[in-house]
Amino acid sequence: MSIDFNSLKTPCYVVDESLLIKNLELLKYVQDKTGCSILLAQKGFSMYSVYPLVGKYLKGVTSSSLFEAKLGYEEMGKEVHIYAPAYKEDEFDEIMKYSDHIVFNSFSQWNKFKDKIKNSTKHIECGIRINPEYSEIETDIYNPCFENSRLGTILDNFREEDLEGIDGLHFHTMCEQNSDTLERTLKVVEEKFGEYLKGMKWLNFGGGHHITRTDYDVEKLIKCISYMQEKYDIKIYLEPGEAVALNTGFLVSTVLDVVKNNMDLAIMDTSAACHMPDVLEMPYRPNIINSGMPNEKKYTYRLGGPTCLAGDIIGDYSFEEPLKPGDKLVFCDMAHYSMVKNNTFNGINLPDIVLWGKDGAKIIKTFNYEDFKRRL
Ligand SMILES: *Cc1c(COP(=O)(O)O)cnc(C)c1O
Repeated sequence: MSIDFNSLKTPCYVVDESLLIKNLELLKYVQDKTGCSILLAQKGFSMYSVYPLVGKYLKGVTSSSLFEAKLGYEEMGKEVHIYAPAYKEDEFDEIMKYSDHIVFNSFSQWNKFKDKIKNSTKHIECGIRINPEYSEIETDIYNPCFENSRLGTILDNFREEDLEGIDGLHFHTMCEQNSDTLERTLKVVEEKFGEYLKGMKWLNFGGGHHITRTDYDVEKLIKCISYMQEKYDIKIYLEPGEAVALNTGFLVSTVLDVVKNNMDLAIMDTSAACHMPDVLEMPYRPNIINSGMPNEKKYTYRLGGPTCLAGDIIGDYSFEEPLKPGDKLVFCDMAHYSMVKNNTFNGINLPDIVLWGKDGAKIIKTFNYEDFKRRL
């Protein structure tokens, strides 16, 4: 049953369960073909009401913080991995409680916490995040290898003498990229860190693999995984966030008013600043169903949010018919890096979270004044 957008109260994020399953099936295919393990990176998508479903296909979660680790532990209950640029002493015992793999950003962090891990009764695998100083990302804020990056240990700082107790290496250098980028990245990883990989149990390829995009070369990914597994006799982990939820969700919104200042402007009940911050941060232009580029269709509007921020602008779009208050607009690809990043700036309420399944809409969550007030 396809989504009946008109039946939904706005604004709301609605995730289509069947589209999510399609992504998960492709990811499972990669696991089945190679024996690798794929983890959901919760940073990109933490809609935990679907974790039981995700857990039917993937091996677990990866986390960037204590809270994400706890959420994955509680709500999926499979493998929990964690990486953070630095861990807090007062959180580390709890992190150990939830995590099966802990990846350290530096040897100083590893040396600080390794006794805790050695003395624990729980078996925890440990890794070091390496920075191969190679990436093909052009936007600096999304490039973990940009100059003076704090993310990962560069070869110059790698301490072979401190490797005892380290089970694997981890790199994360990609963002929305195809497997040819991975292939070139692996070459550099091998050149720089290949000799250390030989003694390891695993290598984690991080996230940024756009596996579920239509033009993604899945067979090349499979080759890359198999090549590394065979050459170094290691297990491979991947931890995509975006690829799990890519093109599975929508943000449904309503036009509140139409005004004019040199051009036609529409004010929506959803905000770029609050509900789709990547539109301003990344930045990017989300697609809207039945819309075109400016002037492509007859009526062009600049869409803006209901906040007082002048720059709360979603973008310019054209439509076959003039917009009027009450019209619904549907933004595409809004499941990832949306719910996890939204905020109540300006006292704007958060969108409902809806799951669209076989039986139609299931309202997962609604928000109110208390959600706004409690954080202040
Ligand atoms: C952000 C992140 C991911 C997920 O990245 P996507 O681009 O969403 O696939 C995985 N691992 C680490 C360490 C990250 O920081």
